[in-house]
Amino acid sequence: PLVAPAGILTGLDPDQRAAAEVTEGPLLILAGPGTGKTRTLTHRIAHLVQDLGIAPEACLTITFTRRAAEELRERLDILLGPDGARVPAMTFHALGLRILRAHPELVSALRGDPSEHPLAIAGDQERALLLARALGDDSPGDRRIPRLLQSLSAWKRRSPLGLSALPPDGPQPSEELARAWQAYTTALAQRSLVDLDDLVGLAVVLLEANPEVREAWRARTRTLSIDEYQDIDAQQYRLVQALAPARGDVCAIGDPDQAIYSFRGADVGFFFRFQQDFPDAKLVRLRKNYRSTRTIVDAALQVIAPSPTLGLRELLATFEDARRITLQESPTERAEAEFVVHTVERLIGGSTFFSMDSRRVAADDHDTDFSFSDVAVLYRTEAQADALREAFARSGMPFQRRSHRGIVERPAAEAIARVMRRAPTEEPVLEQLRAALALLRQQAPGESEASEALEGTPSQGPETASAAATEAPLTQADLDTAAELLTPLARRCGEDLRRFLLELGSEIEVDAWDPRADRVSLLTLHASKGLEFRVVFLVGCEDGLLPLRISRDEDPDVAEERRLFYVGMTRARERLYLSWARERLRRGQVVQTAPSPFLREVEDALLDRQQPEARKPKPEPATPDKRQLTLF
Ligand code: ATP
Ligand code: MG
Repeated sequence: PLVAPAGILTGLDPDQRAAAEVTEGPLLILAGPGTGKTRTLTHRIAHLVQDLGIAPEACLTITFTRRAAEELRERLDILLGPDGARVPAMTFHALGLRILRAHPELVSALRGDPSEHPLAIAGDQERALLLARALGDDSPGDRRIPRLLQSLSAWKRRSPLGLSALPPDGPQPSEELARAWQAYTTALAQRSLVDLDDLVGLAVVLLEANPEVREAWRARTRTLSIDEYQDIDAQQYRLVQALAPARGDVCAIGDPDQAIYSFRGADVGFFFRFQQDFPDAKLVRLRKNYRSTRTIVDAALQVIAPSPTLGLRELLATFEDARRITLQESPTERAEAEFVVHTVERLIGGSTFFSMDSRRVAADDHDTDFSFSDVAVLYRTEAQADALREAFARSGMPFQRRSHRGIVERPAAEAIARVMRRAPTEEPVLEQLRAALALLRQQAPGESEASEALEGTPSQGPETASAAATEAPLTQADLDTAAELLTPLARRCGEDLRRFLLELGSEIEVDAWDPRADRVSLLTLHASKGLEFRVVFLVGCEDGLLPLRISRDEDPDVAEERRLFYVGMTRARERLYLSWARERLRRGQVVQTAPSPFLREVEDALLDRQQPEARKPKPEPATPDKRQLTLF
């Protein structure tokens, strides 16, 4: 047996340490938010590498979101120095892509694509466009498209290779869908494209169909760790099974109360099955919350209390602070956004932030030293981001936004977006588009800043470096794709086009996300999991939005929405603001709202209720920021 020297594990409490000291065999860590699960995971790897001499490359670590993967790598860098970068820590998507890229000939054999270009990922617009064209229609604005794409994606998760592989006795897709499937998958394969659903699904098929390849991948890994295991879906589960090291060294970490992806096929049942899958698995429970104040922990526990538990829920606060949670009511969505902005300004130190040159500001009228990066604004739907984004842009405060999709757009699409930004803005949209296309043609091939766009792939390591290198230059194929993307749209000048450009514009923001930048983070609740911020605003706490009612005839999935609310609350370390607006724009209509039923679960003693301010919002001067927003 291996003996642990003290060193690296001194930063852990006894329970965490017990988990990190399980250096062989399967391990399940089950614990609530902020109990140090991720910390234990990274320390365990650091221990394996530094104390027991295991190669960093052999410690494959998987998580779900790009931001979480960045966070893991950052923590590993701190613990391990240069060795940290050698640990393959990435998202499921990035791992899938890595496997597919390593075996282009096998991918081609599986689905018959020409394999002339390295595999690239089709983003949302591109998927819509390909499907529209495949259906003989130029218009990605077709109302059927989003619905079809969603169904395609759901079927794909069940049967990655094709509908013919579906078991004949189960439910079958409609004829319309079968036609769409055929056309869409052919279009993807012809262009050497995969979509996000393919990444894991195809990788699984590839590994299962090629045992020798699977064994080679398996042999590279000494220990396989998966964070947020409660959100694993069937394909990801199969990937874990396919890659599980021979000695069963799999470390799964999770919290069933934070399962929030069942709408996308995740199944917490896989979590509970771990001990059957790996019968000699050790189970470690962590109980102390090191993240949030007692008030926040207590309020979060009150919200999650009605959720069924198998006697597993236990969360003890360790951080005392008397401050209550602010519950803010606003008359409108816009007033809510202004409340957020004003509060952040006050926390950071009023108007002094403009002259600020570092993270810490000392001003008289604020009570502590928050910086922009300490603050996150969390919301349920992307649509809510617009009001926030405008309010932040008007205030001049630095902010950044990332969507829950963690999209990987094709380099061409990103290049177009960048070029669009540089095109002269006074021209009508159609002219801008032409100018952008012309510019794009001049620049090819070679100039592209998109190489870093690859989701979750570490920028270090020889294998990745070469993947990035093949990704970097703008090729003729990219240009063709760009033209293909833009030409049909250029024919339809109007709202569609405007929306398309707007989306491209926001993807630049996605791409420009920098975890170290001193900016306020705007992100969806789904994207926030695993993260923590000193100050958290949870906006739009309204019935119908949280829990979200997607359509009039569909009831919200209250149980999952409750867990989502719980995830949001438990991101906060020191300050939590829950906010709702009496009036909100939903699907183009202003609707009157009622507060979220989840708010009623929190006892009054923990809340500081704030009514709307009486004053009217001032008319806004047109700032350059605002002009850009309307153009893009
Ligand atoms: P989540 O369920 O939200 O992913 P988690 O269980 O992964 O949460 P971590 O993010 O690992 O929790 O830890 C939460 C915070 O508590 C981090 O800031 C971490 O550094 C801190 N923390 C965890 N354990 C300890 C400890 N033993 N001593 C001091 N700080 C700790
Ligand atoms: Mg975590």
